[in-house]
Amino acid sequence: MRDPRYDILFEPVRIGPVVAKNRFFQVPHCNGMGHQMPLAHAAMREAKAEGGWAVISTEECEIHPSSDLTPYVEARLWDDRDIPALSLMADKVHAFGALAAIELSHNGPTASNLYSREVLLAPSHQPSKYGYPAQARAMDKADIRAYRQWHRDAAVRGMRAGMDIVYVYAAHDLSLPMHFLQRRRNQRTDEYGGSLENRVRLLREVLQDTKEAVGHRCGVALRFATDEFLGPGGVELAEARDIVAMLAELPDLWDVNVAAWYNDSVPSRFAPEGAQEPFIDFVKKATSKPVVGVGRFTSPDTMVSQVRRGVVDFIGAARPSIADPFLPRKIEEGRFDDIRECIGCNICITGDNTITPIRCTQNPSMGEEWRKGWHPERIAPRASDARVLVVGGGPAGLEAARALGQRGHEVALAEASKELGGRVSREARLPGLAEWGRVRDWRLGQIRKLPNVSTYLDSTMSAQDVLDFGARHVVLATGCRWRRDGYGRSNGLGIPGLAEHPAVFTPDDLMDGRLPTGTVAVFDDDYFYYATVAAEALAKAGCRVVFITPDDTPASWGAYTLEYRHVRKRLAALGVEIRVSTNITGFAGRTLVLEDVWSDATSTLDVDALLTVTARLPNDELFHALKAREAEWADAGIQSVDCIGDALAPGLIAHAVYAGHRYAQELGEAKTGEVPFKRHFHTARETDLLDGP
Ligand code: ADP
Ligand code: SF4
Repeated sequence: MRDPRYDILFEPVRIGPVVAKNRFFQVPHCNGMGHQMPLAHAAMREAKAEGGWAVISTEECEIHPSSDLTPYVEARLWDDRDIPALSLMADKVHAFGALAAIELSHNGPTASNLYSREVLLAPSHQPSKYGYPAQARAMDKADIRAYRQWHRDAAVRGMRAGMDIVYVYAAHDLSLPMHFLQRRRNQRTDEYGGSLENRVRLLREVLQDTKEAVGHRCGVALRFATDEFLGPGGVELAEARDIVAMLAELPDLWDVNVAAWYNDSVPSRFAPEGAQEPFIDFVKKATSKPVVGVGRFTSPDTMVSQVRRGVVDFIGAARPSIADPFLPRKIEEGRFDDIRECIGCNICITGDNTITPIRCTQNPSMGEEWRKGWHPERIAPRASDARVLVVGGGPAGLEAARALGQRGHEVALAEASKELGGRVSREARLPGLAEWGRVRDWRLGQIRKLPNVSTYLDSTMSAQDVLDFGARHVVLATGCRWRRDGYGRSNGLGIPGLAEHPAVFTPDDLMDGRLPTGTVAVFDDDYFYYATVAAEALAKAGCRVVFITPDDTPASWGAYTLEYRHVRKRLAALGVEIRVSTNITGFAGRTLVLEDVWSDATSTLDVDALLTVTARLPNDELFHALKAREAEWADAGIQSVDCIGDALAPGLIAHAVYAGHRYAQELGEAKTGEVPFKRHFHTARETDLLDGP
């Protein structure tokens, strides 16, 4: 039952004409499903409403074809035909007593209009933000009037869709009211440019318009970024204080954060829980209206502290609500150790950025609520009384054991080493990745509560051991290892001299505590986090680090996780020397042979050691040994042997957790060979739904 210390989190809070039942507020977040997958989107939001969040918001919602965000998939309210898709979500959210909120946005020069082919709009003539080779044109007074009308119309449509809260968006450098605030985007000389009063004018007008249009039924929220960290060209804290003072009582709710998105949703490697407090704590002192703020809050004590100290009224969350849609209910029920804490890896954000449905490392059901019918808390009871042997206690094996145990199976988890967690435990020891240990910790906590799951450490399983064990189903989650022969994307034949060279290291060496010394080249042919983390670890251990990559920029995939800029700054601060567009073609003695990937020019570099981050090999020897003895399975009582996670194909931790969960979900189901999930088709029925009345 609820601990009275947390009662304050469950107080209702008024937002204009509506009342939120508690202080848990799922702020707008993108999800890669948006208007193209409305059923999947609604089911994802529904899970959070069921989990106790008082307010559930959409992602940003395009209000007009001149703010078309294609290829990104967000919400859309261009006309009445978009209403039913959003009603789906509002209805599902209301069924659990939550309020639905919609974040209206016209992105001006930060839109694309690639689908609509409209000319981009902006306060002044300027290049489009996202590198599309076109400029936005300066809006004249008629454009401003038209924009205000579009926003008003969208607000009314949002209300008709069943939304209880309508946002005016002035954050993330993504919407016209914010663009008018920014000196770098607004060089107007009329009453909408120049002085702060003038630059705030449009935001004030849109807030007033929205209140007039829907304020009788809907709370009107303002999402406002207090700092862009760009100096005088952007919104700065000092000016933000004045803006908040000028508009203090106008919105019914202040949702405050920092911009751009990469400064707002910072990965845990670069920012701890509650990092935005110094930039938003002034807002509540300037207004009597409720304030929501974010900070990747997962600790109930931190949440209470935020409210008691007068920093926020609402605990805003995107990522914590993705990792654990049931976070509020767990706090309410006093089930603190059941909270599945976000690890701050930002894999969820790669959904939006790669234009694919949202995924989460910690919560494998995220994005699968509709298409696979997965629930973040419930799972169907076992279909048989089969015993299952799980080999390998990394994220795949732990999640398989946990979810199989939850289904009621008798499970044995055998792990070769003396600790559970596999790669998660190993990677969590690297600089900045400590929070990744939460993937292990949550699963261990759950497994400890399941009397039907037994874990065996220090238990390397051979094929004979598995046959002798006598489980009906065997799942191998034995992980993978880094290659040291240079094989990878750029060197399909490996790199001559590496395999036998004594001064070649891999991330496995680093995680085992074997670090090179002196001048070390880190070779990144992987393009995500490992190589930059290795460079950081080595630089911190006193090495001179030269980061070499055949790619044109280091850690390019980190752009999808919003890590990229933070990584570049950190490597720069650590004095890591970076050589891009450079391949390694040989290593003999101390001499690396380098090749410019564009000119083919070669050069040499003398180093004490080379750390390669190129590709991995599955640890699938046990799987193949068992396959070779398939004739003996029946006598041993074995019906199936499966290989999952990194042992099948090395990937992200998110892939491993998903693989473990999927195995547990599907055990006992007939393999039909059909597409294993529901798809959105624009069939006659769905078109009717989307076309509306
Ligand atoms: P994944 O990411 O797929 O879960 P990990 O590499 O994190 O993979 O975890 C694999 C785990 O399997 C490691 O902890 C490793 O010690 C363990 N393991 C590997 N081979 C065996 C084996 N033959 N018997 C038991 N455990 C094993
Ligand atoms: Fe948190 Fe990572 Fe899940 Fe995103 S993907 S919610 S950052 S655990």
